[in-house]
Amino acid sequence: MASFIKEQVTSVTHWNETLFSFKTSRDPSFRFKNGHFIMMGIELEGRPLLRAYSIASANYEEELEFFSIKVPNGPLTSQLQRIKIGDEILLSKKPTGTLLQENLLPGKNLYLLSTGTGLAPFISIIKDPEVYDQYERIILVHGVRYVSELAYKDIISERLPNNEFFGDEVRNKLTYYPSVTREDYVNTGRITELMISGKLTQDIGLPDFNVKTDRFMLCGSTAMLKDCCEILNDLGFAEARRGNQGHYVIERAFVG
Ligand code: NAP
Repeated sequence: MASFIKEQVTSVTHWNETLFSFKTSRDPSFRFKNGHFIMMGIELEGRPLLRAYSIASANYEEELEFFSIKVPNGPLTSQLQRIKIGDEILLSKKPTGTLLQENLLPGKNLYLLSTGTGLAPFISIIKDPEVYDQYERIILVHGVRYVSELAYKDIISERLPNNEFFGDEVRNKLTYYPSVTREDYVNTGRITELMISGKLTQDIGLPDFNVKTDRFMLCGSTAMLKDCCEILNDLGFAEARRGNQGHYVIERAFVG
């Protein structure tokens, strides 16, 4: 296990019967960018069992945080969901990923579009004070099936706006837009439907999507990414690829 970093679990949150998150200690020498993912897991029967997970904590925080689904009979998550304070987790040494500010052309409005646990990297990004310097508005959309899956809701809408260092910026610039697809809620419908119908921009008081002003980061299931990319491509937005900045970025590491 020499090629892995070992950290200890410091807290665990079970959001509902299908979702949980946990925090771990962090070696001060471990560096990452907000939006990065890493291979994370546990030692099982003497062997490392790891999967790609976005880091949900910000890069200035003392602990690392991860957000996970509980897959019934999933080799890793069936074990990981039983994790307790003090347990050891394994991390690869190299965080990586495309959901980075530096991959986007300058813009006015930053849309962070997520479904399910795809919210994780955006929890890190909305805690980044630099994002508030770069954009006039930041819109975090979280699409889920059921209200109970709106993890981090209170952190996003209550705690972050009261942050002692950049709470003012959060209150002025961040819009949280949760949407539920399989039960009644304030906002309902898939992200794709909200984009096509124009309901999203209307609800948040912004004009229709515009290549000159709007930038997007997407993280969610393969189907959601495919459909959202099609919508954006049809509107003339270009994905950042191979070191070239673009109008939007998606995290391919979790695709397919
Ligand atoms: P999900 O619980 O299956 O779906 C969440 C929402 O997405 C539902 O409201 C669903 O609507 C909607 N949806 C399904 N297909 C869609 C489409 N084609 N376009 C728009 N919305 C769609 O959750 P999930 O999104 O599949 O799962 C999250 C994904 O995030 C996983 O693929 C995971 O690998 C990835 N991820 C996880 C992490 C992490 O750190 N844990 C990080 C990055 C990415 P309906 O009810 O209408 O189906």
